[in-house]
Amino acid sequence: MKKPFVSKEQVETITKSYPTPFYLYDEKGIIDNAKAVYEAFSWNKGFREYFAVKATPNPVLMDILGKIGCGFDCSSQTELMLSEAIGAKGSDIMFSSNDTPAEEYKYADKIGAIINLDDYTHIDFLEETIGKIPETISCRYNPGGVFQMSNGIMDNPGDSKYGMTKEQLFDAFKVLKAKGAKRFGIHAFLASNTVTNEYYPLLAGQLFELAVELQKETDCKIAFINLSGGVGIPYKPDQEPNDIRKIGEGVREQFEKILVPAGMGDVSIYTEMGRFMMGPYGALVTKAIHEKHIYKEYIGVDACAVNLMRPAMYGAYHHITVLGKENEPLDQVYDVTGSLCENNDKFAIERKLPKIEMGDYLFIHDAGAHGFSMGYNYNGKLKCAELLLKEDGSVQMIRRAETPRDYFSTLDCLDSFGKLDQILKNEGI
Ligand SMILES: *Cc1c(COP(=O)(O)O)cnc(C)c1O
Repeated sequence: MKKPFVSKEQVETITKSYPTPFYLYDEKGIIDNAKAVYEAFSWNKGFREYFAVKATPNPVLMDILGKIGCGFDCSSQTELMLSEAIGAKGSDIMFSSNDTPAEEYKYADKIGAIINLDDYTHIDFLEETIGKIPETISCRYNPGGVFQMSNGIMDNPGDSKYGMTKEQLFDAFKVLKAKGAKRFGIHAFLASNTVTNEYYPLLAGQLFELAVELQKETDCKIAFINLSGGVGIPYKPDQEPNDIRKIGEGVREQFEKILVPAGMGDVSIYTEMGRFMMGPYGALVTKAIHEKHIYKEYIGVDACAVNLMRPAMYGAYHHITVLGKENEPLDQVYDVTGSLCENNDKFAIERKLPKIEMGDYLFIHDAGAHGFSMGYNYNGKLKCAELLLKEDGSVQMIRRAETPRDYFSTLDCLDSFGKLDQILKNEGI
């Protein structure tokens, strides 16, 4: 059974100040989980989690993680700026981008972020762009083929655009060393949303063996191995959650089996988890505003796919709890829809739920990562607010909802028609 981290009564109080829809994040859940991650890897002296900013790019949430010791993994200039703005600097920031524009490399170098090169050709590109090769540098590896785990979960690195081949990686290390690099990192992201304790240990085993080979052949000093993201969360109620202690222990076993005997026991382990750090601790809260009975039963809510795109984009399952009806029988079958003029704008399809009344609040679980941040503005729909439920029970608005003025703000040409400002003012916006 999946339990919401708020009650109906709490949400009713919150909606007096903040109308639905909104994102709600659970500070206590975020903190407890981040501490458990650090605990699980405490055996490794240099361990660091670089939170994948793209998952939930909100400075207040990032700051919570930063206070526990996390760094920030960025994929763009604005994410770098956001990290910088909350006080992260230098090696607090990892820049794991791909197809990287020159300005973004320039900016990453300017703020001293660790640069993780996605491709062999980026060595020359980086050198031409910033006029040097940084002393600390990381390369992203792609072994190709299929990455398979014993429970049948698999992913297809051979089909993915990321990283370098093994041969390129060896060449890259040699070239980078000749150009002045002194401390090296290896990075790989081979499977996404793995709901198994096996992924990181398996990946670590492969990367550790690679690291031993690399250090032997190239004589490059490998300072860190970055297991990147991919640790999953149980979106479905019948899935067994990952146990981060077991995952940390599994990585330690590989570390002691492979790296320690090779004299590489000083290598730091880095991670770049996004989903695992935030996913379960954020929810989209929305209100039922329409019911419709045609060939199927529909419940229309006041959120839509611009607020949470994963179901529309991936057919992803997000569990839904009707607040206050946690113990009622699931004797109805509904499609739960948003208002976009697109038939894939459905948060749930043929979902068994309790009887929903207009005005009921729906708590859409596990939206804390890759939720708000994937938002868009199709149909002229606006992005909603983000709220933080603090440890003391109070609620802080950490991002206001967009207004029509925000939506029109990049249309400088609209000003020349002269009416926009008046239209908005008439509406009190
Ligand atoms: C998206 C991404 C992550 C985070 O992935 P999760 O599945 O959210 O853990 C980490 N590193 C890189 C390079 C990414 O692109």
